[in-house]
Amino acid sequence: MIFNEEFETLPREALEALQSKRLVSLVQRVYDKVPYYREQMDKAGVGPTDIKGIADLHKLPFTTKEDLRLNYPFGLFTVPLDEVVRIHASSGTTGKPTVVGYTQKDIETWAELMARSLACAGAHKGDMVHNAYGYGLFTGGLGAHYGAERLGATVIPVSGGNTKRQIMLMQDFASSVLLCTPSYALNIAEVMGEMGVDPASLKLRVGIFGAEPWSQNMKEEIEKKLKIKALNIYGLSEVIGPGVSCECIEGEKGLHVFEDHFIAEIINPDTGEVLPPGETGELVFTTITKEAFPVVRYRTKDLTRLMPEPCQCGRTFYRMDRIMGRTDDMLIIRGVNVFPSQIEHVLMGVEEVEPHYIIIVDRDGTLDTLEVQVEINENIFSDEIKVLEGLSKRIQGEIKDLLGVSCKVKLVEPKTIQRSEGKAKRVIDNRKL
Ligand SMILES: [Zn+2]
Repeated sequence: MIFNEEFETLPREALEALQSKRLVSLVQRVYDKVPYYREQMDKAGVGPTDIKGIADLHKLPFTTKEDLRLNYPFGLFTVPLDEVVRIHASSGTTGKPTVVGYTQKDIETWAELMARSLACAGAHKGDMVHNAYGYGLFTGGLGAHYGAERLGATVIPVSGGNTKRQIMLMQDFASSVLLCTPSYALNIAEVMGEMGVDPASLKLRVGIFGAEPWSQNMKEEIEKKLKIKALNIYGLSEVIGPGVSCECIEGEKGLHVFEDHFIAEIINPDTGEVLPPGETGELVFTTITKEAFPVVRYRTKDLTRLMPEPCQCGRTFYRMDRIMGRTDDMLIIRGVNVFPSQIEHVLMGVEEVEPHYIIIVDRDGTLDTLEVQVEINENIFSDEIKVLEGLSKRIQGEIKDLLGVSCKVKLVEPKTIQRSEGKAKRVIDNRKL
């Protein structure tokens, strides 16, 4: 079902005209209301009258997390604080969080975008939505919550943690839609196994997972283990929260960006140059309808590409590919760019290991070292050293083939790597210590 047929199926020309109109008004508003934006634009030699439509977007300066930090906490708000009805925050780089605000209308917009996302993934009125995203300053929990209500579904605001209780509630309430991080979905699947609960006996039909990058192979792993469809949702608090884009159940390939509210660009992260659709680079968003906290050309540090090809679901919005990594998650190992998601992709393709791993980077003298610890499957677990050695060599070979770097693969016993109840921490870089 398409939640907002009128906007989600706008012909490209009409959509771009709408984006242009909204962009012009946004630029005038931030120039008039936010001294920092005015200074940045003056410095770049661009004024509101230079922006006549989306073709002029590239003339505007970027906004970064550092700009948010400099204006902590409310310096980039464009409305007086008494019009702000909600504050959220995410972790910042230097201790102070990144703060965002919403007017009543922003909350309504966000609820609609999350309702669109859930509908995109096939959820509908009558669904029992088990919301295991964290509630609090993090946008995940409340964002999904308002969206599920707006859709008319029944929402269970369970938040994170206490996995056994979560599974009991899923059974008793006949939950049909699961919302959480992909790493927590795997954790739930594992605990179901320990409890002797057959996922096929549940009513769960679809999971809508986000808040951390995950690979295509991990999607398949979750689908197999939980016996559901696993779809991808994307968002970040600086832009609005979850509901910036979502995968559709019909296409199941790429996430439709809700382009009547957000203009997406892909740039070369080194030069800032805008790249054509199809090319991979850093994702940049301009929010064209937000009232309290709009952002202009916000650099997400997420790496992906835009897919302009039409989709069978009927939505005309461009899709973005799943996030392949972050510019700041990128590890440089002996001069080679390595994304944790690439290592995950290899591991998920190996039947004998479980989807639980950590990546440890260290330095031996002047040489970077890369070690991957991964749990072995219980059924395969063998004391026979030769078997284990052969397996770790095979994984090493596959990582070397894909990434071009050699690494050490250490197979560890089942259930020895710490489980995630939210965003998983999978990289330990000891080189910084
Ligand atoms: Zn689609």
